[in-house]
Amino acid sequence: MEYKTTIGLEIHAELRTNTKMFCNTKNDPEEKRPNVNICPVCMGYPGTLPVINKEAVKHVLKVGKALGSRLADFTEFDRKNYFYPDIPKGYQITQYKYPLVSGGELAGVKITRVHLEEDTARSSHENANYSLVDFNRAGVPLMELVTEPVIHSAEEAVNFARELQLLLRYLGVSFANMEKGEMRVEANISVSKTDTFGTKCEVKNLNSFKTVEKAIAYEVARHIELLENGEKVIQETRGWNEQKQETFSQRSKENAHDYRYFPDPDLPKLQLSEMPEFLNQDLPELPSEKRARFDKDYGVKEEDREMYIVDTKLGDFFEEVLKIAGDNKLSILTSNYITSDLAGLQKGNPDIDPFKNISAENFAELIKMASGSELSSRGAKDTLAIMFKEGGEPRKIAEEKGLIQKNDEGELIAMVQKIISENEKPVAEYRAGKEASIMFLVGQGMKVSKGSANPQVLKKLFENELTK
Ligand code: ADP
Ligand code: MG
Repeated sequence: MEYKTTIGLEIHAELRTNTKMFCNTKNDPEEKRPNVNICPVCMGYPGTLPVINKEAVKHVLKVGKALGSRLADFTEFDRKNYFYPDIPKGYQITQYKYPLVSGGELAGVKITRVHLEEDTARSSHENANYSLVDFNRAGVPLMELVTEPVIHSAEEAVNFARELQLLLRYLGVSFANMEKGEMRVEANISVSKTDTFGTKCEVKNLNSFKTVEKAIAYEVARHIELLENGEKVIQETRGWNEQKQETFSQRSKENAHDYRYFPDPDLPKLQLSEMPEFLNQDLPELPSEKRARFDKDYGVKEEDREMYIVDTKLGDFFEEVLKIAGDNKLSILTSNYITSDLAGLQKGNPDIDPFKNISAENFAELIKMASGSELSSRGAKDTLAIMFKEGGEPRKIAEEKGLIQKNDEGELIAMVQKIISENEKPVAEYRAGKEASIMFLVGQGMKVSKGSANPQVLKKLFENELTK
């Protein structure tokens, strides 16, 4: 029997609130100056008292609602006691027995719980002689989501984490940037050949989706090798070494009783059933709902749809263009111009903000011109390139640059006759039955007209002239 991988994730996300979890100090993840957003409460001075941030409680309940979880009726906060320089009180306020949210599901993964706690300070050990601690982050509202051990591959784990990031952003409860530490993933990993789970290791401090994937792959291989050599996996907490691209042992796993959890006597218990406005919050459209709506209304390919789901600004633009164009049948054409042509221009010119130069109105006009016979696809691409760099209305640009497609047979016939008189060989070949030769003549017509002639109309004119 093969080894089966089992993974459970613990994901922390800093919540978007005006103030910290238990005081009215600013919660500003962008603050670069150390130790400016601090006060006696979040610095853990004796004699201070915490006050629960309602906004943070609401955020976690909102997440619970979106996950289809059970929202707590009764909830309380607990003290998790340990000593470390980044934890000013000597304990972290968290939730132990009564999390705000239990159960639920996302991307096929069962959720165990989501609870609310406070973040620690940020330590830096860049200097060999001393460490620095920045307390701006101490006491920032932090949610922790724990999944059941039901994930079986690195890919599935990353997919879940991405889906959660998207959800948190849609709900507006967290910026959830992994690179900034606003979302932090810990992966618990074990392997087993039987139905009983193997011994797990926890890997911490994974600050990108890529490292989540690599750390899981590394751990799975390491566990299998240990077991194959007749050795045992030791349950422990491990870190990720980016230079060496490997995990390393940090400490043996502590047990819950090491933390001496107990309910925080300074905080009130919450009876949420008495706070209906907390439980009955309206949800915005969720990523899964948006996917379903896009499939139903637009039917664009999955890759394009995902671009719109992740990059909501782009998705909004796409929808706005179609609304102005007034015809959902143009969705695929519109999507092609956005996800391949516009995205291509953007890639080559990352400094240009296309939405500054191109309004949805002008883009819709371009799409309408391209969907009719006014612009060839070449002409539309050229027009778009100019709109991208300089702004402007597509019709004006196309007229100025002579890109409007010539469909009028009367306008083109003189050119067709001239080409016939100047290209005896292909003309003779065509007349002798070589059908393909007509494409050479059409090509000449496109060249002479600088791409502005409609190739279908040209072909028809050549056929007419040569079979006269
Ligand atoms: P602990 O008591 O060590 O904190 P928990 O039971 O609270 O362990 O689980 C913590 C995380 O580890 C959860 O995400 C859970 O799904 C996951 N997990 C538990 N057991 C295993 C296992 N054998 N293999 C992989 N993940 C596991
Ligand atoms: Mg646990």
